[in-house]
Amino acid sequence: MNRIVILGAGYAGMAATVSLAARTKRRDDVRITVVSADERFTERLRLHQTASGQQLADLRIPHLLDGTGVDFVHGWVTGVDAAARTVCVDDERVLEYDRLVYALGSVADTAAVPGVDDHAYTLNSAHDAELLARRLADLGTGTLAVCGSGLTGVEAAAEIAERHPALDVVLIGRQEPGSTMGPKAKAYVQSALTRLGVRVVSGAEIVKVRPEAVDLAGGDSVPADLVLWTSGVRVSPLAAAGGLRIDERGRILTDGTLRSVSHPQVYAIGDAAAIRQGYGVMHGTCQGGMPTGVHAALSIARELTGRQPGRFRFGYLHAPVSLGRHDAVVQFTRPDDSPRRFCLTGRPAVWYKETVSSSPWPSFVRLKRFPSAGLFAWRRGGRYTR
Ligand SMILES: Cc1cc2nc3c(=O)[nH]c(=O)nc-3n(C[C@H](O)[C@H](O)[C@H](O)COP(=O)(O)OP(=O)(O)OC[C@H]3O[C@@H](n4cnc5c(N)ncnc54)[C@H](O)[C@@H]3O)c2cc1C
Repeated sequence: MNRIVILGAGYAGMAATVSLAARTKRRDDVRITVVSADERFTERLRLHQTASGQQLADLRIPHLLDGTGVDFVHGWVTGVDAAARTVCVDDERVLEYDRLVYALGSVADTAAVPGVDDHAYTLNSAHDAELLARRLADLGTGTLAVCGSGLTGVEAAAEIAERHPALDVVLIGRQEPGSTMGPKAKAYVQSALTRLGVRVVSGAEIVKVRPEAVDLAGGDSVPADLVLWTSGVRVSPLAAAGGLRIDERGRILTDGTLRSVSHPQVYAIGDAAAIRQGYGVMHGTCQGGMPTGVHAALSIARELTGRQPGRFRFGYLHAPVSLGRHDAVVQFTRPDDSPRRFCLTGRPAVWYKETVSSSPWPSFVRLKRFPSAGLFAWRRGGRYTR
Protein backbone atom coordinates (compact mmCIF):
# COMPACT_ATOMS: atom_id res chain seq x y z
CA MET A 1 0.00 0.00 0.00
CA ASN A 2 1.26 3.50 -0.91
CA ARG A 3 0.16 5.75 1.93
CA ILE A 4 -0.01 9.38 0.82
CA VAL A 5 -0.84 12.00 3.42
CA ILE A 6 -1.70 15.58 2.44
CA LEU A 7 -1.44 18.22 5.17
CA GLY A 8 -3.72 21.24 4.71
CA ALA A 9 -6.80 21.57 2.51
CA GLY A 10 -6.36 25.14 1.32
CA TYR A 11 -5.93 26.12 -2.33
CA ALA A 12 -2.75 24.08 -2.87
CA GLY A 13 -3.72 21.10 -0.70
CA MET A 14 -7.16 20.75 -2.30
CA ALA A 15 -5.73 20.95 -5.82
CA ALA A 16 -3.26 18.20 -4.90
CA THR A 17 -5.88 16.02 -3.19
CA VAL A 18 -8.51 15.96 -5.94
CA SER A 19 -5.93 15.69 -8.75
CA LEU A 20 -4.12 12.82 -7.08
CA ALA A 21 -7.35 10.98 -6.23
CA ALA A 22 -8.44 11.24 -9.87
CA ARG A 23 -5.05 10.12 -11.17
CA THR A 24 -4.91 7.05 -8.91
CA LYS A 25 -8.59 6.04 -8.88
CA ARG A 26 -7.98 2.78 -10.74
CA ARG A 27 -5.31 1.64 -8.29
CA ASP A 28 -6.15 -0.29 -5.16
CA ASP A 29 -2.65 0.06 -3.72
CA VAL A 30 -2.92 3.80 -3.01
CA ARG A 31 -4.50 5.31 0.08
CA ILE A 32 -4.82 9.08 0.24
CA THR A 33 -5.52 10.91 3.49
CA VAL A 34 -6.00 14.66 3.76
CA VAL A 35 -5.78 16.44 7.10
CA SER A 36 -7.66 19.70 7.44
CA ALA A 37 -8.26 22.03 10.37
CA ASP A 38 -11.76 22.72 9.04
CA GLU A 39 -14.49 20.82 7.22
CA ARG A 40 -15.46 24.05 5.52
CA PHE A 41 -13.12 25.25 2.78
CA THR A 42 -11.54 28.61 3.69
CA GLU A 43 -11.77 31.00 0.77
CA ARG A 44 -8.78 32.98 1.91
CA LEU A 45 -9.01 35.27 -1.11
CA ARG A 46 -12.29 36.52 0.31
CA LEU A 47 -11.48 36.86 4.01
CA HIS A 48 -11.58 40.67 3.77
CA GLN A 49 -15.22 40.21 2.71
CA THR A 50 -15.84 38.07 5.80
CA ALA A 51 -14.18 40.72 7.97
CA SER A 52 -16.50 43.37 6.58
CA GLY A 53 -19.54 41.30 7.58
CA GLN A 54 -20.39 39.40 4.37
CA GLN A 55 -21.39 35.73 4.38
CA LEU A 56 -19.41 33.46 2.08
CA ALA A 57 -20.60 30.27 0.43
CA ASP A 58 -20.60 27.20 2.68
CA LEU A 59 -18.18 24.95 0.78
CA ARG A 60 -17.81 21.57 2.47
CA ILE A 61 -14.61 19.64 1.79
CA PRO A 62 -15.97 16.15 2.72
CA HIS A 63 -18.84 16.67 0.22
CA LEU A 64 -16.40 17.54 -2.53
CA LEU A 65 -14.36 14.45 -1.71
CA ASP A 66 -17.43 12.18 -1.88
CA GLY A 67 -16.72 9.29 -4.23
CA THR A 68 -12.96 9.93 -4.46
CA GLY A 69 -11.96 7.35 -1.83
CA VAL A 70 -9.88 9.98 0.01
CA ASP A 71 -9.87 9.69 3.82
CA PHE A 72 -10.72 13.07 5.31
CA VAL A 73 -9.21 13.70 8.75
CA HIS A 74 -10.62 16.69 10.58
CA GLY A 75 -7.89 17.84 12.94
CA TRP A 76 -4.92 20.03 13.68
CA VAL A 77 -1.47 18.80 12.71
CA THR A 78 0.74 19.05 15.79
CA GLY A 79 3.88 17.30 14.63
CA VAL A 80 5.76 16.00 11.60
CA ASP A 81 8.67 13.58 11.88
CA ALA A 82 10.34 13.44 8.50
CA ALA A 83 12.80 10.74 9.56
CA ALA A 84 10.14 8.40 11.01
CA ARG A 85 7.64 9.40 8.24
CA THR A 86 4.87 10.13 10.68
CA VAL A 87 2.45 12.96 11.30
CA CYS A 88 0.76 13.69 14.62
CA VAL A 89 -2.80 15.04 14.59
CA ASP A 90 -4.29 16.71 17.69
CA ASP A 91 -1.41 15.15 19.69
CA GLU A 92 -3.23 11.81 19.69
CA ARG A 93 -3.51 10.26 16.26
CA VAL A 94 -0.37 9.22 14.41
CA LEU A 95 -0.50 8.87 10.63
CA GLU A 96 2.26 6.97 8.85
CA TYR A 97 3.10 7.91 5.28
CA ASP A 98 5.18 6.81 2.34
CA ARG A 99 4.75 10.18 0.66
CA LEU A 100 3.77 13.45 2.28
CA VAL A 101 2.37 16.56 0.63
CA TYR A 102 2.97 19.53 2.95
CA ALA A 103 0.49 22.35 2.24
CA LEU A 104 -0.03 24.16 5.53
CA GLY A 105 0.04 27.64 3.98
CA SER A 106 1.11 30.82 5.75
CA VAL A 107 -0.30 33.54 7.96
CA ALA A 108 0.44 37.25 8.52
CA ASP A 109 3.48 37.72 10.73
CA THR A 110 2.02 38.77 14.07
CA ALA A 111 5.34 38.18 15.84
CA ALA A 112 7.20 40.89 13.93
CA VAL A 113 6.12 43.81 16.11
CA PRO A 114 5.37 43.92 19.87
CA GLY A 115 1.70 44.07 20.79
CA VAL A 116 0.33 42.63 17.52
CA ASP A 117 -0.36 39.18 18.98
CA ASP A 118 -2.16 40.70 21.95
CA HIS A 119 -4.10 43.59 20.43
CA ALA A 120 -4.53 43.15 16.67
CA TYR A 121 -7.05 41.21 14.59
CA THR A 122 -5.93 39.24 11.54
CA LEU A 123 -7.28 37.61 8.38
CA ASN A 124 -5.39 34.42 9.15
CA SER A 125 -8.46 32.21 9.25
CA ALA A 126 -12.20 32.43 8.73
CA HIS A 127 -12.59 32.46 12.51
CA ASP A 128 -10.23 35.44 12.87
CA ALA A 129 -12.03 37.36 10.12
CA GLU A 130 -15.41 36.63 11.77
CA LEU A 131 -14.13 37.92 15.11
CA LEU A 132 -13.18 41.21 13.46
CA ALA A 133 -16.54 41.40 11.67
CA ARG A 134 -18.34 41.09 15.01
CA ARG A 135 -16.21 43.78 16.66
CA LEU A 136 -16.70 46.13 13.70
CA ALA A 137 -20.45 45.65 13.87
CA ASP A 138 -20.41 46.53 17.60
CA LEU A 139 -18.06 49.48 17.14
CA GLY A 140 -20.30 51.50 14.84
CA THR A 141 -18.07 54.58 14.69
CA GLY A 142 -14.43 54.88 15.68
CA THR A 143 -11.09 54.24 14.01
CA LEU A 144 -9.84 51.02 12.45
CA ALA A 145 -6.10 50.97 11.70
CA VAL A 146 -5.21 48.51 8.92
CA CYS A 147 -1.50 47.77 9.28
CA GLY A 148 0.32 46.72 6.12
CA SER A 149 -0.18 48.54 2.83
CA GLY A 150 0.33 45.49 0.59
CA LEU A 151 -2.52 44.22 -1.56
CA THR A 152 -4.21 42.38 1.36
CA GLY A 153 -4.20 45.59 3.41
CA VAL A 154 -5.58 47.60 0.48
CA GLU A 155 -8.38 45.10 -0.16
CA ALA A 156 -9.29 44.95 3.53
CA ALA A 157 -9.26 48.74 4.04
CA ALA A 158 -11.39 49.34 0.93
CA GLU A 159 -13.89 46.58 1.71
CA ILE A 160 -14.39 47.63 5.33
CA ALA A 161 -14.58 51.36 4.50
CA GLU A 162 -17.26 50.67 1.89
CA ARG A 163 -19.28 48.45 4.21
CA HIS A 164 -18.90 50.69 7.30
CA PRO A 165 -18.98 54.27 6.01
CA ALA A 166 -19.28 55.72 9.52
CA LEU A 167 -15.95 54.19 10.46
CA ASP A 168 -12.65 56.06 10.14
CA VAL A 169 -10.31 53.63 8.31
CA VAL A 170 -6.59 54.39 8.24
CA LEU A 171 -4.16 52.31 6.18
CA ILE A 172 -0.62 52.34 7.59
CA GLY A 173 2.47 50.90 5.90
CA ARG A 174 6.00 51.36 4.63
CA GLN A 175 5.03 51.58 0.96
CA GLU A 176 2.40 53.60 -0.79
CA PRO A 177 -0.68 51.48 -1.59
CA GLY A 178 -0.32 49.80 -4.98
CA SER A 179 3.47 50.25 -4.96
CA THR A 180 4.01 46.89 -6.70
CA MET A 181 1.74 47.92 -9.60
CA GLY A 182 2.33 50.09 -12.64
CA PRO A 183 1.71 53.86 -12.41
CA LYS A 184 -1.84 53.75 -13.81
CA ALA A 185 -3.05 50.95 -11.52
CA LYS A 186 -1.30 52.52 -8.53
CA ALA A 187 -2.98 55.88 -9.13
CA TYR A 188 -6.31 54.09 -9.52
CA VAL A 189 -5.88 52.29 -6.18
CA GLN A 190 -5.03 55.54 -4.44
CA SER A 191 -7.97 57.48 -5.86
CA ALA A 192 -10.35 54.62 -4.96
CA LEU A 193 -9.09 54.66 -1.36
CA THR A 194 -9.61 58.44 -1.23
CA ARG A 195 -13.13 58.06 -2.63
CA LEU A 196 -13.91 55.47 0.07
CA GLY A 197 -12.58 57.81 2.76
CA VAL A 198 -9.56 55.67 3.68
CA ARG A 199 -6.74 57.76 5.18
CA VAL A 200 -3.30 56.58 4.09
CA VAL A 201 -0.17 56.85 6.22
CA SER A 202 2.76 55.62 4.13
CA GLY A 203 6.51 55.64 4.72
CA ALA A 204 5.67 54.49 8.23
CA GLU A 205 7.58 51.93 10.30
CA ILE A 206 5.24 50.41 12.87
CA VAL A 207 7.11 49.68 16.10
CA LYS A 208 4.32 48.77 18.53
CA VAL A 209 0.61 48.05 18.65
CA ARG A 210 -1.22 49.12 21.81
CA PRO A 211 -4.93 48.64 22.67
CA GLU A 212 -5.67 52.25 21.72
CA ALA A 213 -2.96 53.21 19.20
CA VAL A 214 -0.35 52.14 16.67
CA ASP A 215 3.11 53.56 17.45
CA LEU A 216 5.41 54.54 14.61
CA ALA A 217 9.20 54.93 14.52
CA GLY A 218 10.08 58.57 15.14
CA GLY A 219 7.60 58.94 18.00
CA ASP A 220 4.27 59.45 16.17
CA SER A 221 1.19 57.44 17.12
CA VAL A 222 -2.02 56.73 15.22
CA PRO A 223 -4.97 56.44 17.63
CA ALA A 224 -7.13 53.40 16.84
CA ASP A 225 -10.04 51.60 18.47
CA LEU A 226 -9.30 48.43 16.50
CA VAL A 227 -6.21 47.23 14.67
CA LEU A 228 -6.10 44.78 11.74
CA TRP A 229 -2.65 43.30 11.03
CA THR A 230 -2.03 42.16 7.42
CA SER A 231 1.73 42.57 7.18
CA GLY A 232 4.51 40.01 6.73
CA VAL A 233 4.38 36.27 6.17
CA ARG A 234 4.93 33.52 8.70
CA VAL A 235 4.77 29.77 8.16
CA SER A 236 4.15 26.96 10.62
CA PRO A 237 7.22 25.88 12.64
CA LEU A 238 6.23 22.22 12.08
CA ALA A 239 8.47 21.74 9.03
CA ALA A 240 11.59 22.93 10.84
CA ALA A 241 10.74 20.97 13.99
CA GLY A 242 10.15 17.87 11.85
CA GLY A 243 13.69 17.96 10.46
CA LEU A 244 12.93 19.28 6.96
CA ARG A 245 15.38 21.74 5.46
CA ILE A 246 13.91 25.23 5.39
CA ASP A 247 14.84 28.69 4.18
CA GLU A 248 15.31 31.76 6.38
CA ARG A 249 11.53 32.25 6.53
CA GLY A 250 10.78 28.68 7.60
CA ARG A 251 9.49 27.55 4.18
CA ILE A 252 10.48 24.07 3.00
CA LEU A 253 13.32 24.19 0.49
CA THR A 254 12.30 22.32 -2.64
CA ASP A 255 14.08 21.00 -5.70
CA GLY A 256 12.84 21.77 -9.20
CA THR A 257 10.14 19.10 -8.93
CA LEU A 258 8.72 20.45 -5.60
CA ARG A 259 10.25 17.71 -3.47
CA SER A 260 11.96 18.63 -0.21
CA VAL A 261 15.72 18.87 -0.77
CA SER A 262 16.32 16.98 2.48
CA HIS A 263 13.47 14.42 2.27
CA PRO A 264 12.48 13.61 -1.32
CA GLN A 265 9.40 11.65 -0.23
CA VAL A 266 7.98 15.00 0.95
CA TYR A 267 6.44 17.40 -1.56
CA ALA A 268 6.05 21.00 -0.37
CA ILE A 269 3.51 23.20 -2.11
CA GLY A 270 1.74 26.55 -1.83
CA ASP A 271 2.80 29.28 0.60
CA ALA A 272 4.62 26.80 2.86
CA ALA A 273 7.24 26.02 0.20
CA ALA A 274 10.27 27.98 -1.00
CA ILE A 275 10.03 27.34 -4.74
CA ARG A 276 12.78 28.81 -6.86
CA GLN A 277 12.16 29.88 -10.43
CA GLY A 278 14.48 31.65 -12.89
CA TYR A 279 13.34 35.04 -11.55
CA GLY A 280 13.67 34.15 -7.84
CA VAL A 281 11.65 32.42 -5.12
CA MET A 282 7.89 32.49 -5.72
CA HIS A 283 5.90 34.56 -3.27
CA GLY A 284 2.70 33.13 -1.82
CA THR A 285 -0.39 33.47 -3.98
CA CYS A 286 -3.35 31.31 -4.83
CA GLN A 287 -2.38 31.94 -8.45
CA GLY A 288 0.85 29.99 -7.88
CA GLY A 289 -0.39 27.70 -5.09
CA MET A 290 -2.97 25.74 -7.07
CA PRO A 291 -0.54 24.86 -9.88
CA THR A 292 1.94 23.54 -7.29
CA GLY A 293 -0.79 21.18 -6.02
CA VAL A 294 -1.65 19.98 -9.53
CA HIS A 295 2.04 19.46 -10.30
CA ALA A 296 2.74 17.55 -7.07
CA ALA A 297 -0.19 15.21 -7.82
CA LEU A 298 1.10 14.53 -11.33
CA SER A 299 4.61 13.91 -10.02
CA ILE A 300 3.46 11.46 -7.36
CA ALA A 301 1.34 9.64 -9.94
CA ARG A 302 4.42 9.42 -12.17
CA GLU A 303 6.59 8.11 -9.33
CA LEU A 304 4.00 5.44 -8.55
CA THR A 305 4.44 4.13 -12.07
CA GLY A 306 8.23 4.21 -11.88
CA ARG A 307 8.68 7.45 -13.82
CA GLN A 308 10.57 10.58 -12.80
CA PRO A 309 8.69 13.71 -11.71
CA GLY A 310 8.98 16.67 -14.06
CA ARG A 311 10.25 20.18 -13.35
CA PHE A 312 7.75 22.74 -12.07
CA ARG A 313 7.68 26.00 -13.99
CA PHE A 314 5.43 28.92 -13.18
CA GLY A 315 5.06 32.51 -14.38
CA TYR A 316 2.69 35.11 -12.93
CA LEU A 317 -0.12 36.54 -15.03
CA HIS A 318 -1.94 39.18 -13.01
CA ALA A 319 -2.62 40.88 -9.69
CA PRO A 320 -6.40 41.36 -9.39
CA VAL A 321 -7.30 43.66 -6.46
CA SER A 322 -10.81 44.40 -5.21
CA LEU A 323 -11.59 47.93 -4.03
CA GLY A 324 -14.87 47.18 -2.30
CA ARG A 325 -17.70 45.35 -4.11
CA HIS A 326 -18.14 47.92 -6.89
CA ASP A 327 -14.61 48.70 -7.97
CA ALA A 328 -11.38 46.84 -8.67
CA VAL A 329 -8.14 47.01 -10.57
CA VAL A 330 -6.28 44.21 -12.34
CA GLN A 331 -2.59 44.73 -12.99
CA PHE A 332 -1.32 42.38 -15.70
CA THR A 333 2.21 41.19 -15.08
CA ARG A 334 5.21 39.63 -16.71
CA PRO A 335 6.02 36.07 -15.60
CA ASP A 336 8.39 37.46 -12.91
CA ASP A 337 5.45 39.47 -11.47
CA SER A 338 6.74 42.85 -12.64
CA PRO A 339 3.89 45.04 -13.92
CA ARG A 340 3.07 45.33 -17.60
CA ARG A 341 1.69 48.55 -19.03
CA PHE A 342 -1.84 47.16 -19.31
CA CYS A 343 -4.36 47.16 -16.48
CA LEU A 344 -8.13 46.84 -16.14
CA THR A 345 -10.17 49.15 -13.93
CA GLY A 346 -13.80 49.67 -12.91
CA ARG A 347 -16.56 47.26 -13.92
CA PRO A 348 -14.51 44.99 -16.20
CA ALA A 349 -12.00 44.63 -13.36
CA VAL A 350 -14.78 43.84 -10.86
CA TRP A 351 -16.01 41.08 -13.19
CA TYR A 352 -12.45 39.78 -13.73
CA LYS A 353 -11.62 39.74 -10.01
CA GLU A 354 -14.89 38.00 -9.13
CA THR A 355 -14.29 35.38 -11.84
CA VAL A 356 -10.82 34.69 -10.43
CA SER A 357 -11.95 34.58 -6.79
CA SER A 358 -14.82 32.22 -7.49
CA SER A 359 -12.89 29.86 -9.76
CA PRO A 360 -10.98 27.60 -7.29
CA TRP A 361 -13.93 25.52 -6.03
CA PRO A 362 -15.35 24.77 -9.51
CA SER A 363 -11.76 23.97 -10.54
CA PHE A 364 -11.53 21.35 -7.77
CA VAL A 365 -14.81 19.84 -8.99
CA ARG A 366 -13.43 19.74 -12.54
CA LEU A 367 -10.06 18.28 -11.45
CA LYS A 368 -11.90 15.48 -9.68
CA ARG A 369 -13.09 14.23 -13.06
CA PHE A 370 -10.48 15.60 -15.46
CA PRO A 371 -7.14 15.88 -13.65
CA SER A 372 -5.34 16.83 -16.87
CA ALA A 373 -7.46 20.00 -17.09
CA GLY A 374 -5.31 21.44 -14.30
CA LEU A 375 -2.18 21.23 -16.41
CA PHE A 376 -3.44 23.87 -18.82
CA ALA A 377 -4.41 26.31 -16.09
CA TRP A 378 -1.19 28.25 -15.63
CA ARG A 379 1.60 29.97 -17.51
CA ARG A 380 4.98 28.27 -17.52
CA GLY A 381 6.86 31.57 -17.71
CA GLY A 382 8.72 31.13 -21.04
CA ARG A 383 12.28 32.46 -20.96
CA TYR A 384 11.78 33.70 -17.38
CA THR A 385 11.74 30.15 -16.02
CA ARG A 386 13.77 28.26 -18.59
C1 LIG B 1 -7.40 38.63 2.45
C2 LIG B 1 -6.49 37.91 1.48
C3 LIG B 1 -6.64 38.12 0.13
C4 LIG B 1 -5.83 37.44 -0.79
N1 LIG B 1 -6.01 37.68 -2.12
C5 LIG B 1 -5.29 36.97 -3.02
C6 LIG B 1 -5.52 37.15 -4.42
O1 LIG B 1 -6.34 37.97 -4.83
N2 LIG B 1 -4.82 36.37 -5.29
C7 LIG B 1 -3.89 35.45 -4.85
O2 LIG B 1 -3.30 34.77 -5.70
N3 LIG B 1 -3.63 35.29 -3.54
C8 LIG B 1 -4.30 36.02 -2.60
N4 LIG B 1 -4.06 35.84 -1.27
C9 LIG B 1 -3.04 34.88 -0.86
C10 LIG B 1 -3.60 33.46 -0.91
O3 LIG B 1 -4.76 33.38 -0.11
C11 LIG B 1 -2.58 32.46 -0.41
O4 LIG B 1 -1.39 32.62 -1.14
C12 LIG B 1 -3.14 31.03 -0.61
O5 LIG B 1 -4.21 30.84 0.28
C13 LIG B 1 -2.05 29.99 -0.38
O6 LIG B 1 -2.61 28.71 -0.54
P1 LIG B 1 -2.10 27.52 0.39
O7 LIG B 1 -2.90 26.33 0.02
O8 LIG B 1 -0.63 27.44 0.39
O9 LIG B 1 -2.49 27.99 1.88
P2 LIG B 1 -3.95 28.17 2.50
O10 LIG B 1 -4.96 28.44 1.46
O11 LIG B 1 -3.78 29.16 3.61
O12 LIG B 1 -4.25 26.72 3.11
C14 LIG B 1 -3.53 26.19 4.17
C15 LIG B 1 -4.49 25.36 4.98
O13 LIG B 1 -3.77 24.65 5.97
C16 LIG B 1 -4.49 24.74 7.19
N5 LIG B 1 -3.55 24.57 8.29
C17 LIG B 1 -2.51 25.34 8.65
N6 LIG B 1 -1.87 24.82 9.69
C18 LIG B 1 -2.51 23.68 10.01
C19 LIG B 1 -2.31 22.66 10.97
N7 LIG B 1 -1.29 22.70 11.84
N8 LIG B 1 -3.16 21.60 10.99
C20 LIG B 1 -4.19 21.52 10.09
N9 LIG B 1 -4.42 22.43 9.14
C21 LIG B 1 -3.59 23.50 9.11
C22 LIG B 1 -5.13 26.10 7.16
O14 LIG B 1 -6.22 26.15 8.06
C23 LIG B 1 -5.53 26.20 5.70
O15 LIG B 1 -6.81 25.67 5.49
C24 LIG B 1 -4.84 36.53 -0.32
C25 LIG B 1 -4.67 36.31 1.05
C26 LIG B 1 -5.49 36.99 1.96
C27 LIG B 1 -5.30 36.74 3.44
